[in-house]
Amino acid sequence: MNRKTSEKELEILGLIHARSPLSRAELVKLTGLSGGLISAAVRRLVARNLIVESGLEPSKLGRRRVALTFRAGEPYTIGIEIGGYFLRIVIADIAGNICDQLQTQTMLSEGFSAVMERCFSAIDQAMSEAGIKKEALAGIGVAHSGVVDSKRGVVLSFHRPGQMSEWRNAPIGEMFTERYGLACIVEDSVRMAALAEKEIGVARELSDFIYIRVGMGIGSCIYLNGESYRGAGGGAGEFGHITVQEEGPLCYCGNTGCLSTLASCSVIIQEVAAAIGKGVHSRIQEMVEDNLDRINIELILNAMQEKDSLAFRVLNEASMHIGVALADVVNLLNPSVVIFGGPLFQSNPQPILDSIQRVIRQRALEKSANEVELIVSSLGPESSALGAARFAAAQSIPTLHARRA
Ligand SMILES: [Zn+2]
Repeated sequence: MNRKTSEKELEILGLIHARSPLSRAELVKLTGLSGGLISAAVRRLVARNLIVESGLEPSKLGRRRVALTFRAGEPYTIGIEIGGYFLRIVIADIAGNICDQLQTQTMLSEGFSAVMERCFSAIDQAMSEAGIKKEALAGIGVAHSGVVDSKRGVVLSFHRPGQMSEWRNAPIGEMFTERYGLACIVEDSVRMAALAEKEIGVARELSDFIYIRVGMGIGSCIYLNGESYRGAGGGAGEFGHITVQEEGPLCYCGNTGCLSTLASCSVIIQEVAAAIGKGVHSRIQEMVEDNLDRINIELILNAMQEKDSLAFRVLNEASMHIGVALADVVNLLNPSVVIFGGPLFQSNPQPILDSIQRVIRQRALEKSANEVELIVSSLGPESSALGAARFAAAQSIPTLHARRA
């Protein structure tokens, strides 16, 4: 096969992987290739058992169209998110079907080596639950919430109390590769969640959007023209470090009053605990039976739903800070859609969205404020791990294609 044909086939496979099910007509539109060329390429890829015609889907014109997807099954990829509190693992096949997923605590306080061992044993457990052998795997995708150098597979820094030095320049990509003998990509966890959103979530039909995740930290990912925007050195999207209060609390980045110091879930939890400690009455105190260490974001969201005034006040303040930062972004980029994900939006998100929307209406330029739609992610807490598994699978397509030539 000549190089050009091979490149076209890879482009088609990449599109089917990211956006399936796709019809031949959609492939013509997306690639700019002729219908004849697409049909011939699809025929070859079906014959090589890479893709399958998976039934009929109604098209916009009412005619039924044949949907193309990757063939289910081998090879599989592992996606793992190493978060501040949880390790989440997803094993998916090349068609994107989830074969197994599990969650365990990260236990960062036990130190770097213990966390890596915990990652390995969680992966081993997921593989055995799914009945998948090492030989059937094509790669590992790691989503990490620290600052990562994805080219080298290294965590540059991970700002968690007591963990800073251990995670500095940690070559985790190499460690996964050594352990499993597989290619490993290391990516920012918010970027991986946004990728999952783009491929199988609410952003499927969007080429431009901003994805914002509020959890123990705050991050974002900007999609422009169908691609995630990385900036000069991969540092784009640090929404959590936008200054919201010039004289505000000191952030680990060295700046004061970053959004993360005012609106992350850890800050919300601390504020609720501090207020109860000072004697402010709240249902949350009964919910945790006076043990303030048990306060978590889910409880606070539930308390807000039950009209608890402390929960309402703290969440409303955090939402307003997010709105202040987002109003600047709305002015700068004029996005049509902003998608929110992460623990802060996991249940009952409407009052929080309403507060953010109100601040944007007050602060951003009227036209841009009216044009932006705020929506909530449709994916669960495993979205970063899922995105990482999909990203690792996409990277493995050229090898799979060459092997089935
Ligand atoms: Zn900061």
